[in-house]
Amino acid sequence: MKDDLLSGEHATEELGNLTTFAIETRGDSFSNQLQSRLVRELTRIGFRYDAANPDLVISVGGDGTLLQAFHRYVARLGQTAFVGVHTGHLGFYADWTAQELPLLIEAIANRKYTSVIYPLLRVSVTFKDNKESANYLALNECTIRSAEGLLVSDVFIRHELFESFRGDGLCFSTPTGSTAYNKGLSGAIVHPSLESIQLTEIASINNRVYRTLGSPIILPKHHHCQVRPVDASGFNLSIDHIATLHEKVEEIECAVAKEKICFARFRPFPFWRRVRDSFIG
Ligand code: NAP
Repeated sequence: MKDDLLSGEHATEELGNLTTFAIETRGDSFSNQLQSRLVRELTRIGFRYDAANPDLVISVGGDGTLLQAFHRYVARLGQTAFVGVHTGHLGFYADWTAQELPLLIEAIANRKYTSVIYPLLRVSVTFKDNKESANYLALNECTIRSAEGLLVSDVFIRHELFESFRGDGLCFSTPTGSTAYNKGLSGAIVHPSLESIQLTEIASINNRVYRTLGSPIILPKHHHCQVRPVDASGFNLSIDHIATLHEKVEEIECAVAKEKICFARFRPFPFWRRVRDSFIG
């Protein structure tokens, strides 16, 4: 593995061993047309459509579509690479345009790509009644809110009390998720070569009892963070676009995951250029 000078991301140069593919589409008619075209042309040049065991997953839509694809294939992260085509505005995960489809097909046919590896967030929920823990992987972020009103929780870093939080909620994001909801919470944009997670507050209330730092913090991969309910123990958790409700929660732990996502990069597109093109123009 080397740090790719062009992309500034952790990357492995390889001649990929791609044989099977699958497509995740946003479902609108234009994205579906592109899907049919990709299936037709990739099959014609010898690739096999295999929705269960794809070497390559092509998402056609937006970043939201890539999030769906990630969760569909989360059990195959070690064997699957992702690439995104956007049919709306430029995305962070979806960086090929519909007009560039012939170029993408040619690049896939040549099977020459760089694997770009991005960190993920691990979320583990443990319960008061010894129920088996619930574990999730997020590509963008996890938000934690109370199931009833304000979130009142103690926040620990490496099991040491850091602060007592009272407010709307907490957001833990990955570096690639730092341009999503985290950015709306005034979190920093983090380069995905930094294996880290970021904690941002969602509307904290500060007084003599509950006092929080008020600034986003970035935790390295060996620092995990625990959130423990103070009174109510029902939590609404969002894992990317997926909402979950958990009762009788003892603790929610967030950390950099051991698992990673691999993107097939058929041409360089440096992260900071994507940030500039998306937000500055
Ligand atoms: P959605 O309402 O369709 O997506 C919200 C927007 O977030 C879309 O414009 C989406 O881009 C964009 N987005 C997703 N991941 C991104 C990333 N890594 N960097 C920059 N923009 C990104 O909702 P959804 O499809 O269910 O997606 C859920 C995601 O929406 C969540 O993970 C959260 O990060 C994001 N979100 C953001 C805000 C906010 O910024 N205030 C609020 C709620 C949710 P596309 O249009 O290309 O799909």
